[in-house]
Amino acid sequence: MTRRAKTVIENAHVVTVSGDEYPDGHIVVEADRITAVGPGRAAVDEADQVNLIDAAGCLATPGLVNTHHHLYQWASQGLAVDSPLFEWLTTLYRPWSKMDAEIVAGAASAGLGWLAKSGCTTSTDHHYLFPKGRGDLFAAGIEAAREIGVRFHPCRGSMDRGESRGGLPPDEVVEDLDTVLTETAAAIDRYHDPSPGSMLRVAVAPCSPFTVTRELLVRSAELAREKGVRLHTHLAETLDEEEHTTEQFGMTPVEYMDSIGWLGPDVWLAHCVHLHDTDVKRLAETRTGTAHCPSSNARLGAGIARVSHLLAEGATVGLGVDGPASAELVPLAGELRQAVYMQRARYGPTSLTARQALEMGTLGGARCLGRDDELGTLEPGKLADIALWRMDGFHAAVDDPVVAFVFGPTPPLHRLLVGGRTVVADDTLVTVPEDEVGRRGVAAHRRLMALAEEVSR
Ligand SMILES: [Zn+2]
Repeated sequence: MTRRAKTVIENAHVVTVSGDEYPDGHIVVEADRITAVGPGRAAVDEADQVNLIDAAGCLATPGLVNTHHHLYQWASQGLAVDSPLFEWLTTLYRPWSKMDAEIVAGAASAGLGWLAKSGCTTSTDHHYLFPKGRGDLFAAGIEAAREIGVRFHPCRGSMDRGESRGGLPPDEVVEDLDTVLTETAAAIDRYHDPSPGSMLRVAVAPCSPFTVTRELLVRSAELAREKGVRLHTHLAETLDEEEHTTEQFGMTPVEYMDSIGWLGPDVWLAHCVHLHDTDVKRLAETRTGTAHCPSSNARLGAGIARVSHLLAEGATVGLGVDGPASAELVPLAGELRQAVYMQRARYGPTSLTARQALEMGTLGGARCLGRDDELGTLEPGKLADIALWRMDGFHAAVDDPVVAFVFGPTPPLHRLLVGGRTVVADDTLVTVPEDEVGRRGVAAHRRLMALAEEVSR
């Protein structure tokens, strides 16, 4: 008889997000995959080598998927705190233009460590500023993700429309079209891993309609489709943006993207706050994903996205924390509550449920990233990305653990597994010393502020 190594999780309230819940359930993991999920005790052979995790008092959910982020912004938190988006951006472009690989490495390490501590097992990163001669910024984020141990979907961002071409950013922070396309293709060739169980997939991600040319959007879509990778950008975040596209192209942001082949099942868009009814329908029928970032939208006063309307039309919606410069220290698990509260504040008490929010934060996110065949639910055959939340403290006064989890503050993590590997144990990051990760984030912030100060003197 072959002796098989298994991790067996027992005594948990298991929410599969594929339709089943087991109040006293088990999950079995072999290598990086889930091999069994069900009620009661797991069936194991005597010969199996079992690593037992007693999850009594815990809620087991799929690991959370973060569909929108800018990790470098860890270094520029707490600035322009009362500004609307365009003013916030124009204030931050200058310090951001001084960013280097050392800053990105520290910021990404802190940002990903923080995400793991709030149950995130897969994260994107949208990096769209590449000041010249400042090291390999894209590689710095990838290295940080490897070290922290989360699944990573870095998006090679870009801007080619500076002020002199009618765009928002100063010319010094944009790249030219050829450089963007060459560097993006090189990043895909070097890093993108399409194989099953992949820890690293690259996406193509021009920044937004008001910072990139139409040509860059069109050529980026061609490149992504030729290489078989996904497309991402910001869209319809504020009314200023709609004014911009109406003035420049005579269309809403969604209509504009539709007109250039930028809607489809291989595209997910951050925000989509300001949508017309026709936009909502179009996103749903083209199976375009939305990365909903409620705290960032609230922090910047951008508005409340029509998430319940998108879901009612059958559209794909995931959750994102967005960059820490527009949502300081936001935990991903906390975005579930934020999403529910904001929908209900705007659209009424039945507009979004706790379980719908959990589905958005897991399966919805996996769909946005094209990984729902492997991630987002707890089912045999899926990757073992699992969060075990401690619900036996203050949270236990709420009988339904899913309600306690979504409506309450983020509970401590008993364990976070990514592909079966422990990344967080007893609410502490274990892959890299947690205090070290925190210090790296502070050092990145101080370095960026010092570099920005040098220039302004
Ligand atoms: Zn963003």
